[in-house]
Amino acid sequence: MEMINLTIDGIPVRVAKGATVMEAAKTIGIDIPALCYLKDVNEVGACRICVVEVERARSLQASCVLPAAEGMVVHTESPSVIAARKEILRLILDNHPNDCLTCDKAGECKLQEYAYRYDVKFREHDGDRKTARIDTSNPYIYRDDSKCILCGRCVSICGQIQERSILGFGNRGFTTHIIADNEKALGESACVSCGRCISVCPVGALLDNRIIGKARAWEAQKEEVKCKRCDYGCDFELLKKDDKVVGVRAKAPGGGRPLCLKGKLSLDLLYTNSPSAPLIKKDGEYTEVTWAEALEMEDLLKKLGQSNNL
Ligand code: SF4
Ligand code: SF4
Ligand code: SF4
Repeated sequence: MEMINLTIDGIPVRVAKGATVMEAAKTIGIDIPALCYLKDVNEVGACRICVVEVERARSLQASCVLPAAEGMVVHTESPSVIAARKEILRLILDNHPNDCLTCDKAGECKLQEYAYRYDVKFREHDGDRKTARIDTSNPYIYRDDSKCILCGRCVSICGQIQERSILGFGNRGFTTHIIADNEKALGESACVSCGRCISVCPVGALLDNRIIGKARAWEAQKEEVKCKRCDYGCDFELLKKDDKVVGVRAKAPGGGRPLCLKGKLSLDLLYTNSPSAPLIKKDGEYTEVTWAEALEMEDLLKKLGQSNNL
């Protein structure tokens, strides 16, 4: 395997040819911030918060898409890099609700983490604000467009991994926003409620409706589990508070194949102490149904309590 030698923040690094500067930095414990980057799913270099300074380059470079090159000398926290990151954060926060006190994403929100790291406050400039659009039409997914930073992760994972392509970018410029099936409410779209988009959203724009208000990020212990409903064994996380499971969520980005709602509901039923009643679409409307009907497994459900093989 061909290897590349470069220097990052004064430290010699050796990585396989094809690795990006961000990946090379990670091998020596340097965590370059990223909002839009999602390995193998959304490698678009769009948010620019991952910029680094490369000696002899004319401008700052997005490290998530920059291949490491022989002899490259990289600075990940130089004054110009820090200034650029602060400005990107300012521009996002100028048009973002000051809601960290009550936001369910607080504690695992990337925007909050980087604002703290680079000491950028909410709304340092005055100007027009986006109109907030809350979409609760899907009982499993809470969408708050005012918190969306247009990173595109949800669009990519829904299209490339979930193979549904429900989500996309609507409009251009200041009014750009994420749309579902060409401006339908999510509950009226062909969304299968897999929850994958929630698991990759770096901010509180997409939340699991059934977990909201049950645990702050820093209170929740996470335990990885595999769905045993079929042979694929998709990856999920149990969220626990005080040793009780408060929710089940798809692991981001998971095993690289589409997830089904039935798998998530099976785990809900198996692990959650008082699982909320399942809702499935009938004639275009979400309707409360029995667990047997939701999971299409009357026979197996009869054995629940004797079997752990859901
Ligand atoms: S999305 Fe992040 S930055 Fe925005 S209010 Fe929620 S925690 Fe705060
Ligand atoms: S829940 Fe799944 S199908 Fe629905 S928009 Fe999100 S990723 Fe796409
Ligand atoms: S909803 Fe979340 S994942 Fe989707 S573009 Fe907005 S911030 Fe990114």
